Amino acid sequence: MTGFVIPAPAQAQLPVQGGGAFPVRRVYCIGRNYAAHAVEMGHDPDREPPFFFQKNPDSLDASGQFPYPAKTSDVHHEAELLVALKSGGTDIAFEDALDHVWGYAPCLDMTRRDLQGDAKKMGRPWEIGKSFERSAPVGPLHQVSEVGHPKTGEIALTVNGELRQSGDLSQMIWKVPEMIAYLSEYFELAAGDVILSGTPAGVGPIVRGDVMVVSIAGLNPLQVEVV
Ligand code: MN
Repeated sequence: MTGFVIPAPAQAQLPVQGGGAFPVRRVYCIGRNYAAHAVEMGHDPDREPPFFFQKNPDSLDASGQFPYPAKTSDVHHEAELLVALKSGGTDIAFEDALDHVWGYAPCLDMTRRDLQGDAKKMGRPWEIGKSFERSAPVGPLHQVSEVGHPKTGEIALTVNGELRQSGDLSQMIWKVPEMIAYLSEYFELAAGDVILSGTPAGVGPIVRGDVMVVSIAGLNPLQVEVV
């Protein structure tokens, strides 16, 4: 190893509640994982196989500010529970899946809904709507040893103090261990991978100056200002 020929990019990381940082390798996001949200987006809420898209590790942002992105006039909030893995593998059994989880954090899957809608109509990939700069604001990551595995309890989002999204973690169509087991059939999961576990109903647009707060039972909230 004689060294990199250009400066190496920074390791993507998430701040941990109580100190330290979690290094991020990959970011998987599930679509339509709460029935009421599937219905509001015009889909059948029956349990069809899950599907995933990806954001980039450097899409994660813990600054507390969300810069309104370029080339869109319809940016939506999606409040989600982030699952952070400490280990991985392939063909992980459902029964063993939670053993791979290091912790959980509140986060946002910010979406350029107009660009995503165009991509859907044309059968194109979603990245242009989903994987832009700082598209995944994240709050403090909590270790399993301190918060356990949140399976029930409220997941909610307010904008300027007004309730916009409200659901319960128990309403996930595909539960956290099911998502891990399923993903591991198609990908080799590893330490540093994170999964955004889907959003409850009530997604909608934000504008500059809005303050979003994601609250998940048992975790410290995430507050983000749109700038
Ligand atoms: Mn989402």
